[in-house]
Amino acid sequence: MGGTRIEVALPLPIHTTFTYSVETPAPQRGTRVLVPFRRGERIGWVTGLNTASDPPKVRGILDVLDDQPSVPPDLLQLAEWISEYYLAPLGMVLRTALPSVLSEASRDFLTMIRTQGEEGTVREQRLISALGEPGMAKAVRTLRKTLGMGSIWPEIRSLVGKGAVRHETIPPKDPPRKIQKVVRLKEWISDLTARDEMFGRARRQREAYEALEGSGGSVELNHLLGRGGFSRSVIAGLEEKGIASVEDVEVFRDPFRDHPKEKPPDLTPTPDQGRVISHLKRMLSESKPSPVLLHGVTGSGKTLVYIELLSEVVRARGRGAIVLVPEISLTPQTVSRFRAHFGDDVAVLHSALSDGERFDAWRQLQRGEKRIVVGARSAVFAPIPSLGVIVVDEEHDGSYKQSEGPRYQARDVAIVRASQTGALCLLGSATPSLESWENGRTGKYELLSLPQRVGGGILPPVHVVDLKKLWKEKKAHPGKTGPVEGGGVLSPELVEGVNDRLARSEQAILLLNRRGYSSFVQCRECGEVWQCLHCSVSLTFHRTSGKLLCHHCRHEEPPPKRCDRCGSEELSFRGLGTEQVERVVAETFPGARIARMDVDTTSGKWSHHEILGRFGRGEVDILLGTQMIAKGLDFPRVTLVGVINADVGIHLPDFRASERAFQLLSQVAGRTGRGTLGGEVWVQTALPGHFAVRAALDHDYSAFAVRELKERVAPRYPPHVRLANVLLSSPSSEEAAREAERGGGWLRAAASRFGSDLEVVGPAPAPIERLHGRWRWHLVVRSSSPNALGGLLRSFVEHHRPRGRDVRVIVDRDPVALL
Ligand code: ADP
Ligand code: ZN
Ligand code: ZN
Repeated sequence: MGGTRIEVALPLPIHTTFTYSVETPAPQRGTRVLVPFRRGERIGWVTGLNTASDPPKVRGILDVLDDQPSVPPDLLQLAEWISEYYLAPLGMVLRTALPSVLSEASRDFLTMIRTQGEEGTVREQRLISALGEPGMAKAVRTLRKTLGMGSIWPEIRSLVGKGAVRHETIPPKDPPRKIQKVVRLKEWISDLTARDEMFGRARRQREAYEALEGSGGSVELNHLLGRGGFSRSVIAGLEEKGIASVEDVEVFRDPFRDHPKEKPPDLTPTPDQGRVISHLKRMLSESKPSPVLLHGVTGSGKTLVYIELLSEVVRARGRGAIVLVPEISLTPQTVSRFRAHFGDDVAVLHSALSDGERFDAWRQLQRGEKRIVVGARSAVFAPIPSLGVIVVDEEHDGSYKQSEGPRYQARDVAIVRASQTGALCLLGSATPSLESWENGRTGKYELLSLPQRVGGGILPPVHVVDLKKLWKEKKAHPGKTGPVEGGGVLSPELVEGVNDRLARSEQAILLLNRRGYSSFVQCRECGEVWQCLHCSVSLTFHRTSGKLLCHHCRHEEPPPKRCDRCGSEELSFRGLGTEQVERVVAETFPGARIARMDVDTTSGKWSHHEILGRFGRGEVDILLGTQMIAKGLDFPRVTLVGVINADVGIHLPDFRASERAFQLLSQVAGRTGRGTLGGEVWVQTALPGHFAVRAALDHDYSAFAVRELKERVAPRYPPHVRLANVLLSSPSSEEAAREAERGGGWLRAAASRFGSDLEVVGPAPAPIERLHGRWRWHLVVRSSSPNALGGLLRSFVEHHRPRGRDVRVIVDRDPVALL
């Protein structure tokens, strides 16, 4: 085949692009094309020309799907960087970055025409019987899954050849658009005589014309037909005369339609805020501003800084902005502040959007109809022409890292995107990640700070309760642990503190960390703990459903009556779940209105939003919840925060365990004392001397950072070094171990080719040894040079082939955890 050869990225787990030919001028980079792939069709993106002098024989593309590239050049360049850095195929990155409607794959269907005789192979017979009734189309993808016999294309080809089945490819649907028919006037007839002439006896046509004229020249067709009472033929008459036309006009669906916009508060920046704002404004004029880390204590008014900066970018300079927040449904206050200030200029991207709504928002942004996008992780890919600034709020938050491939870290992608487009990138946090802090310290980022709370507010005093003492007392006086004393869960000090607040009609937040508080079942005789059949994690007992549940794979089973190992019937349902704590809290504070916020109570699309709304309106006295209540809430009537057990997670076998514990404690403590009423914090801990706990008690970020940076020198961990976690898994434990061994051997042998300080650690069983029925082993690769690390890993994913039936290899660069 002749023509031009182009490279196409396909959303497949293969680390190359594919070459096709086109007859006419090659479509531009970023254009979607439909191409034949194996026996089916795929949507891919043109990435450029293939200029090899001796090109291989290739197939032609089937169709060009965009008039204009649907991926703007800067986004394609960003996707290429992500693909390179995170070792993810470009097509997979693009599929993640774009609204799903732009990458829906075509589907192959089979229909049986006539039942076959006996002559087919056994596999053909199986396929035939799976097809069922003649005339019913079935998707090849589904058939392959239900049959479970690998590729069925040889059988399909054979059966199509014999005329037994029909194979069709249903081409991909056009992206859904909501269309409205609108009647628009094309000719205005102001002269009454001309009007008489034009309409004659067509009275209804004349009335329709006048209705259109009266409403400024265009009216929705349905409106004319319904309310107006005109028939379709009357409108057709206008069309025939060339006076009006009926056009398709897109309607955008706004999911925030029903959420009322607030009026923006009129705030004058404090001197500290003013200093930071004018510094940032100056940086906007630089052609390549360096990234900025804004370290502002909780309640220091970082949001106002973002808003003032965005005003400058959008209003004064006519450019666009991206604001990333950890999770939209957990940060409704932040989102509504942006909406209050910028109104319809803001598109909010969140997980509850339908595919169509997401696509609508995407196009409005691309056309510049909205210039600000607020959203979680994936909003970093929003198509903003002329990007001026990217703000990453709570930049330390773990949710910026995607846990599935492509495993990108949105904060780092934001830095790269800003530098590629000349935009300013502003990272904000009260508890910056050590990576960003180190970049600030060494001058790679500019470091700005807001050391004080606004309005002279002070950070709340933090009191410590030693849990070991509480437990000892409980043991010594088992009879005295009635609900009055807090059921052995809440210390007398915390109970008294909460009662004080209730008496003054103020509010309290109680944090309990799910990780350590899930209640597991343990045999009192032999110590056996009930674990999931598929994962090496203990099952959690849920009182309301009366079932044991695995929080990783959702496996469910009834609680045991006796121990499997020793037969004892003495089983304890240990630990504390949120449900159990809620009961204790309800019994301890019988008059209080309590709301619980965790993954179990918040399955509805907007339930977080609702609970927080009720809390904000003062309809709830005590908000009880997991980590999710620590994020960014700003309620002036919260005068007490209680942490039920601060130590949870601190002993996880992960290098970031202390950092996460510190961040959580500091952030949750930061939820109180935000108004004139002041506030205080009670932290219950069995480790009152742990440095992460101590630093959080003292609100001393830099003390924490100094110590933690030292802890990560030996063994070397980020930020002193770059890390990748290479995880190998298999349903067979021997196979997983053997392949991890082979992978480690390969990496060690290749390491010296890429750099001198590359270090391969392991293999070892992963801390969570088994997950979803797969045994997991891992290797950790580190280097002080990102290029050396990247080179070795790229070579590994491209050249190392694991053996065995079902071995999976995951390379996680800059992992958030090594679990
Ligand atoms: P942070 O994100 O740094 O924790 P916020 O941006 O939520 O802090 O601000 C904390 C509170 O202070 C908010 O209620 C905000 O409205 C208020 N605030 C911020 N700046 C000012 C200001 N200059 N004057 C008065 N109130 C302010
Ligand atoms: Zn037992
Ligand atoms: Zn499980």
